[in-house]
Amino acid sequence: MAPRDASGAGPRPDVLVVGGGLIGLLIARELVLAGARVEVVDDRQEGAASPNAAGMIAPIAESIADQAFARISIRSRDLWRHLAPALEHESGMSIDYDDSGSLLPVLDPAGRPDSEGRRALDRIKALALDLGEAARDVGGAELRDLVPDLRPGIEEALLLPGEHRVDNRLAATAAAAALRHRKVVLHRATVERVAEAPGQVVAWGDGFERAAGAIVVCGGAWTPRVHGLPALPIVPVKGQMIAFDGIDWPFTGAIRTPAFYAVRRAGGRLLIGASVEHAGFDLSLSDEVSADLAAGAAAVLPALKDREPVEHWAGLRPGTPDPWPIVGRLSERLHVATGHFRNGILLAPLTARMIPPLVLDQQPDDPWLSIPEVMLPYRFTAAERLFS
Ligand SMILES: Cc1cc2nc3c(=O)[nH]c(=O)nc-3n(C[C@H](O)[C@H](O)[C@H](O)COP(=O)(O)OP(=O)(O)OC[C@H]3O[C@@H](n4cnc5c(N)ncnc54)[C@H](O)[C@@H]3O)c2cc1C
Repeated sequence: MAPRDASGAGPRPDVLVVGGGLIGLLIARELVLAGARVEVVDDRQEGAASPNAAGMIAPIAESIADQAFARISIRSRDLWRHLAPALEHESGMSIDYDDSGSLLPVLDPAGRPDSEGRRALDRIKALALDLGEAARDVGGAELRDLVPDLRPGIEEALLLPGEHRVDNRLAATAAAAALRHRKVVLHRATVERVAEAPGQVVAWGDGFERAAGAIVVCGGAWTPRVHGLPALPIVPVKGQMIAFDGIDWPFTGAIRTPAFYAVRRAGGRLLIGASVEHAGFDLSLSDEVSADLAAGAAAVLPALKDREPVEHWAGLRPGTPDPWPIVGRLSERLHVATGHFRNGILLAPLTARMIPPLVLDQQPDDPWLSIPEVMLPYRFTAAERLFS
């Protein structure tokens, strides 16, 4: 069958991005900046990860087991510093980007201050310092001033000033708005199948058909449902979160403990997360999980005991067998960028920068951005080469 542009949306794009979560939207933006004619197709899955995440940009606390992952993450955090104001400028809206850091109180897994908790934080501090990142102990009056609601008895914490946060819902909205301002076509459809044809690659769905010079599949947890891709080891990993209102501590970053994290938002909101559940595509909300999250947080922040959560939601992280995402070329014109599991907000800017040189056959201007032709097995291979 000869491919045709059934959408009637004008000339064939150079690149069609399948999936308009934060990864796909930022990839589309970088491709446009690199001079490509780009379109995005997204089916607005309920439970997509990007609007349902916590928005932590946490390169150290998330990477304690893997230095290479930490370096990649730091690099992407650095890109966020420039991306956040650029997105705000391009979209005309705030994305509530905050660089106050993460605060890690000295606690054991049961929520008690103890020497085991201190040793765990010392390991994180050593990793940060090894990587040239700031990390410092705070205690006493300084800690109380930052978070007056911390339970009495918690007298020490580690501050990681290089960990940031963003309102991921606003960031995804801003990224889409920035594309619309650049006249990028955003289709609403489910792509069911992709296939290479001579000189082009085609995406088909119910009532949708679009040929492009290249396709980048960024379908998050739903990526393996697209026929025509090799079997990709992506599974949905459900995360439930709750939120409280009325928080006004001076510290506007994230508080992390072994049991939960608490992430501030502009306007006095506090997000508490998150469960980690292997439940397929189920998005049902459990009162028990909500109560557990609230109780865990109230054990450290007792003022929450008197409040009711104002929101409870679930999202699906795209999980892989290891913490690494799956980014690269699958065949001549078909590419993938997914599997960012619990770090897709953090890693979105670097992922987005890696794709244009690959798709547009351009020499990357930075060794961090070069992904070799042979991208399988499914990794940020550039990082492996740099750090192995
Ligand atoms: C509770 C929770 C907390 C999290 N907290 C953090 C955090 O603090 N920091 C962090 O860095 N990361 C966090 N994450 C992880 C992060 O949200 C994800 O890694 C990231 O958002 C993945 O982005 P994505 O664009 O790949 O996927 P998604 O955001 O899921 O987007 C995929 C999009 O593709 C569309 N799509 C899928 N298949 C098709 C198709 N066939 N046709 C058309 N469209 C399709 C979907 O509708 C969807 O819009 C969290 C995730 C969850 C669930």
